[in-house]
Amino acid sequence: MIEIDHITKTYGKVNAVDAVSMTVETGSITVIVGTSGSGKTTLLRMINRLEEPTSGEVRINGTSTLSVKPHLLRRRIGYAIQGHGLFPHHTVARNIGAVPELLKWPRGKIDARVDELLALFSMDPTEFRDRFPAELSGGQQQRVGVARALASRPDLLLMDEPFGALDPIIRTQAQEDLRQIQRKLGSTIMLVTHDMEEAISLGDQVAVMDGGKLVQYAPPAEIIARPATDFVANMVGDAERPLRLLSLISVSEIIEPGEADGEALPETASLRDALSACLWTGRDALPATRGGAVVGRVTLKAIRARAGAHV
Ligand code: ADP
Ligand code: MG
Repeated sequence: MIEIDHITKTYGKVNAVDAVSMTVETGSITVIVGTSGSGKTTLLRMINRLEEPTSGEVRINGTSTLSVKPHLLRRRIGYAIQGHGLFPHHTVARNIGAVPELLKWPRGKIDARVDELLALFSMDPTEFRDRFPAELSGGQQQRVGVARALASRPDLLLMDEPFGALDPIIRTQAQEDLRQIQRKLGSTIMLVTHDMEEAISLGDQVAVMDGGKLVQYAPPAEIIARPATDFVANMVGDAERPLRLLSLISVSEIIEPGEADGEALPETASLRDALSACLWTGRDALPATRGGAVVGRVTLKAIRARAGAHV
């Protein structure tokens, strides 16, 4: 568990981060979202002490980060930034193995970890281990950057706009990869973005920053349905709200008994997909399947009932 306790950073007379408190559960993704200059990067950098807080403290599993030497702290906290920050003259393997090497892991264990991570990121170790960053695509560089940050199995992974430089298609793929890998490894991740769409699709919890203050800290569905301030509502985008809400709910939640014609939807599909399928086929209901077998139907009426602000 990560406890951020009334943390403040003052530059001159300005509070870049203003008494922010939040608790992050182990094994979850927390996304910090806000406009440029809202204090996201400063907040993140106070967690691994790249910036020293003016006041307040951060505790990781009960221990104050102020009681640990910064360079030792940073070996336990992965940090991935936009533009990946890879060492250009080191191979992929040396880049990924950098922190385990500092921690003096035996060679064999480092090599095995490098190969395990490359495979996890769908990069064939024999093909990529000995390449240099310049011999990779932007998306591959970004994956190596994240693999490096995860290499020593850190207590926490901090990511500052990690997907900012990627084009939209690769970006969506990168988000899905991160989700999958996070689930597989059970990592605790705090990720910064200015993109509410990214926050909603990636976060177990979303922290919205405005002018250095934490204005709302809640699960995505709550942020959409009940934005705490006009600023949050603006960021969510009023017109998109019902669709965003539907994209977070799966068909399995509203299957009802009965039959329907048309192409079936798997119960894992989102209600946004179900709505789209109903509109596209001009039907009021479609069959729903579990493990390939039809188990009932999903109706336009039931979808509509879930699209309002009453989760
Ligand atoms: P974000 O990451 O949300 O864009 P930052 O945390 O980088 O925001 O910055 C928050 C505020 O603090 C901004 O107004 C920025 O100009 C200011 N700031 C950040 N770093 C420094 C610094 N080293 N010295 C003075 N002001 C800073
Ligand atoms: Mg920033």
